[in-house]
Amino acid sequence: MGEQDEEDSVLILQAISSSMRLRVLELLEDGGLRYNDLMRKLGLDQKTDAGKFSFHIKKLMRAELIELNQAEKKYQLTKLGDSILRHVHEIKGEIIEEEKFPKVRTSKLKMEPFDRRRIAESLTREAKMEEDEAEDIALEVQDKILRLKVKYLTAPLIRELVIATVMERGMEKYRHKLTRLGMPVFDVGNIANQYNADSPLIRAGREVFLQYVLLEMLPKSLADIHLSGQMEFNFLSEWALRPEQIVHIPEVDLEWCNALPNPPIRLKMEDGIPIPSSLDYVVMAVSKETCAGQTLLQAPETQKLEDLPNKIRFSLAFGTKLNISIRGDEKNIDGLEKMFVALSERGRIAPLDNLRISIIADKLSRDALRRVIEVASSTSAFGAAVSIARKKADLMSYDHMLVNELTADTMDYHGLTILGSVRVDLPTILMDSKKKESIFFDKLKGLITRAKDAFHIRLDYLTTRVNNGTLPVFSSVHEGRRYIRDKQMIAVVQLDGIYAAAMALTGDSEPYSKSMLGIIEKMANSVRAAVQRESDESIVITANLTYNGLHPPKGQILPPDVSNLESWLRREAELQTMLTGSGLVVFDVDGSEMGAIRPEEAFDKGIDIVTLYSQRQMCSICGAIVPKNAPVCPYCGSRVFVSRDETLENF
Ligand SMILES: [Zn+2]
Repeated sequence: MGEQDEEDSVLILQAISSSMRLRVLELLEDGGLRYNDLMRKLGLDQKTDAGKFSFHIKKLMRAELIELNQAEKKYQLTKLGDSILRHVHEIKGEIIEEEKFPKVRTSKLKMEPFDRRRIAESLTREAKMEEDEAEDIALEVQDKILRLKVKYLTAPLIRELVIATVMERGMEKYRHKLTRLGMPVFDVGNIANQYNADSPLIRAGREVFLQYVLLEMLPKSLADIHLSGQMEFNFLSEWALRPEQIVHIPEVDLEWCNALPNPPIRLKMEDGIPIPSSLDYVVMAVSKETCAGQTLLQAPETQKLEDLPNKIRFSLAFGTKLNISIRGDEKNIDGLEKMFVALSERGRIAPLDNLRISIIADKLSRDALRRVIEVASSTSAFGAAVSIARKKADLMSYDHMLVNELTADTMDYHGLTILGSVRVDLPTILMDSKKKESIFFDKLKGLITRAKDAFHIRLDYLTTRVNNGTLPVFSSVHEGRRYIRDKQMIAVVQLDGIYAAAMALTGDSEPYSKSMLGIIEKMANSVRAAVQRESDESIVITANLTYNGLHPPKGQILPPDVSNLESWLRREAELQTMLTGSGLVVFDVDGSEMGAIRPEEAFDKGIDIVTLYSQRQMCSICGAIVPKNAPVCPYCGSRVFVSRDETLENF
């Protein structure tokens, strides 16, 4: 080693022999900093510490470990400085090891030396804690770890120790900010063993997001309402991600197609393999941006309804949750019939149990109606639910809610969004009101106000996601217009258990007594007034009566007393003048109700909407589509069936 080299080495060693100068080097590791910023980060006072600091900087400059970038007026590490700093890190690592600090297994699956500063950093970054306080807690956690004498640490364990320390100090406000969201090892093992394919991943992810929404997105009071069971937010785990449903129109989609992300360019056969049509592409892409399903609205003037099943054959084969809403018109009855026949052809290949067809039939003659019901029943035997409404409405949404609150041309419905829904559990509210009518009605009104608050929170999240392009189809713009409509989104308040609540309030055991209908009407009026009051420009709230959960064909609706069918239908008809969603009469085309009364007769009794359905499954041996409850395949004797239940849940 020459004399000059030796002198340089001494300069370098002197330069790094102060903790202040080492900190300067470390601060510059991620990029250059101005003089004042360096001082601030070191916690130095610009006036009183200036002399001291300039001395340190000079030492580092002389040893050529840092230099001043004149153009940016920033200090930065030289190549030498960078390599010296790396050596310093190595030495520190070895010292730490000698101090018997266990290694940490990080989330990146790497082993790293324990570093107290990481704790302090995450406390200031995640919990916005003051630096002094963060440093203090980090020190205490470090002590605890030393006393534990474990061989290696994991990041979650350190986090648990941090949270315990925070709690010991009575700093509860930081706990929610610092906690990890996830599941116990035991539960993950259970999910992995119980479900196949992607399902465990989806379930675990859903659990994390559910916890996130309850902890971070909703104020505690709203989260508590959800957990109390008085009012549940449907699809809560997806609140931060996407809206429930969207309505779109094939004609507009096709015009829009090239503005969408990754537009399908090849639309025909390629090497003998059919490529999905543009419409198929849109339907499948949209299905990823909603949680409950989508409605494809067919304009009344649409020709060639019979071509539709072929245009969406991939969506049908993969069980995309889809509702096709059609305005029935005497002129397109032939097309409608052919469409049902074509759908049945598809149903022979794969069950149609995620498909709904909604027909607004207020303009159809009785004969036309009979023809539609006939051909629709055969399609619903393949698993599709078919709803037919005699009521004037513009469209029926995926969950069969009639949408007619908004006056618009059909084309204006493109992009109409059903933001979300809540399920109000009337019997639970009644129990919590000690069965006092006045308390019950006050609570009900209060809950609808809170539902509105929750919907607006969800709308804010959705708007952010649409603005930053996280929902690529909904965010796309064509001729200055967004795919998703940002005005008059629909939010739904579902009323559950109205009969049970009315019975409990009146103490009446006879269904449909006068007093019971009276109280139901009072509930309907109260809810209707409340949702109108809470609606505004951005969110229109509507109340809807539910019977069996969100999607009717999951359970069938039978008259409570078939022998009294006549009066049941009359009361249902009376009810549906009070609330939308009421009077939803479901016929199982496999079952006996079709024998007791024909759907068209239900219309005669004043019922506005009937639904035809049949639950179906596919034989895994011969591929036949057979009724859900068939224990043995009637064609091949197999007992193994494939059902779409998993697919439904996976959405
Ligand atoms: Zn079979």
